[in-house]
Amino acid sequence: MKWGAAALLSGNKTVPFFSQSATFAELWPDICQQVDDVIRVGKYSHGHKVAEFEQALADYTGATHVVAVNSGTDALVLALRAAGLAPGDEVIVPAFSFVASASSVVLAGGRPVFADIEPDTYGLDPAAAADAVTSTSGFVMPAHLFCQLADLGGIGALARRHGLTVIEDSAEAIGMRWDGTHAGLVGRAGVLSFFPSKTLGALGDAGALLTHDARVAETAAALRHHGRFGATLNNFPGISNTTTLSGMNSKMDDIQAAVLVAKLTRLEADIKRRALLAQAYRQRLAGIPGVLRLPTVVRRDVPTTDVFYVFVIEVEQRVELIEYLAGEGIGTETYYPVPLHLQPCFAGLGHRPGQFPVAERACRHTLALPLYPDLGLDGVGAVCDAIARFYTGRAA
Ligand SMILES: *Cc1c(COP(=O)(O)O)cnc(C)c1O
Repeated sequence: MKWGAAALLSGNKTVPFFSQSATFAELWPDICQQVDDVIRVGKYSHGHKVAEFEQALADYTGATHVVAVNSGTDALVLALRAAGLAPGDEVIVPAFSFVASASSVVLAGGRPVFADIEPDTYGLDPAAAADAVTSTSGFVMPAHLFCQLADLGGIGALARRHGLTVIEDSAEAIGMRWDGTHAGLVGRAGVLSFFPSKTLGALGDAGALLTHDARVAETAAALRHHGRFGATLNNFPGISNTTTLSGMNSKMDDIQAAVLVAKLTRLEADIKRRALLAQAYRQRLAGIPGVLRLPTVVRRDVPTTDVFYVFVIEVEQRVELIEYLAGEGIGTETYYPVPLHLQPCFAGLGHRPGQFPVAERACRHTLALPLYPDLGLDGVGAVCDAIARFYTGRAA
């Protein structure tokens, strides 16, 4: 069998932005065993493997309820609806994030209201969010981006002051903890994405909702299955398949659950490896002119566990650097080049450039470098040398 990482392993200097071919090659016997189990039982959608993964994820995160679904995006829509979002309710979201942080609000029937971010963490700024509160605000939905949690202390205080429900877009935040509580469980509910490039990536799309709230879990579990309560739900067994709500078909399939059961066993090792690679980046990139900012992990009032999902720096001459690195066989990404308030899909909300300057600046300067367990220290070295050569004419 041939694996896509062959170029990486053969000494070729190409560094793709993302690859987990070596990880999958190593885990293949375990994955085959899990998939075999699915085929033997013969239930391929919300079957026993999904239930097994939900239990394993509940054990890992400490969530009372896990609702496994087909994507992080659908998990956000289900979380908002299950937590009681009424049509037209305002949801305060950051102006800098993946588009699903705001489009999920529209899909759930609400109205996204943007607020600016903190410059160092790229998380929703509680003071900016406070300015965005109106009499129809019902929810606040911070996103935890790149390597750390948004200020859940400040956002929690704001939510208590105004009676807002906190839903966490913790799609990128598996493994991160706020004062010992896993991301997504500080608010009413949160989500995880298992999109292939995420810290725990599947072999396709998948996601989950986490909550301690039994009603939210039960409603979300019904909404993922056409709005049917009972009958088919792993952790809410029942007898009825009456359709009570207009739901979706957002179920996780058992083949993805099989992959995730196998992969979850090495998540902590992967997270440690990511931290090591991030540390190497930090050392090699320090002091290179043109590199404006390295990731700043902010100390909060409570202990936090931070996890490097991606290594995002801020740079000068971003477009030229991206082209130079591409020429050297090094892949990069820009998360996120367009602030959410200026995305065409939200044009109807009537925003203009300059309204959220911190978010807009982040969109102009941030650059994500390759960071994944398969990337060796050699890979980090190759990326840093190329960046140094671009700005100074010499290797790092
Ligand atoms: C990845 C991501 C999502 C969406 O997850 P999918 O599984 O791709 O649907 C939502 N929000 C953020 C912040 C993300 O990074």
